[in-house]
Amino acid sequence: MPYYPDGSPYEYDDLSPELVNIGWLDASHPYPRGDVPAEVVDGLLRLAADPVNVTRGVHTCPMCGGSYLEVENPHAASGSTLLGHAEVHLPGAGGTGFAAPTLVIHYILDHGYAPPPPFRAAVLRGRG
Ligand SMILES: [Zn+2]
Repeated sequence: MPYYPDGSPYEYDDLSPELVNIGWLDASHPYPRGDVPAEVVDGLLRLAADPVNVTRGVHTCPMCGGSYLEVENPHAASGSTLLGHAEVHLPGAGGTGFAAPTLVIHYILDHGYAPPPPFRAAVLRGRG
C-alpha cells in the first residue's frame, strides 16, 4: 500500500471532492501515537461497513504483516469487516474531507496510531 503523509492531498481520481490523506502508514515513517476514544473507533467501524474504492486485492499491514485482517463490527450485517481492501471518505469542516484506508482501524487498535484531531472530530460529527 502506498505511503502518504497525514494531511497530504488525496489524488486517487479527479472525481473526488477535495480530500486529504489520513492513516496511509508504512513501517519506515514515524506516526503519532496515543489513545483514541472508543467513539472514534466506533465511528470508523460504521464507515467501514459501507466503504468506498473497494479493490480486488487485500493489502497487508506494513507494521505486522497481517493480511485478511477482520474486526468485529456491530454496524456490519455480517458482524465483522475485512480491512485492507477499501477506503473510508468523510467530510471535514471547512470543505476539505478525509480519505483513509480501512486499515486505519487496525492501526489504531493494534499499533497505537493516533489520527489527527480534525479527522477525529469529523468522525464524531459523522456519528451524529
Ligand atoms: Zn498490523
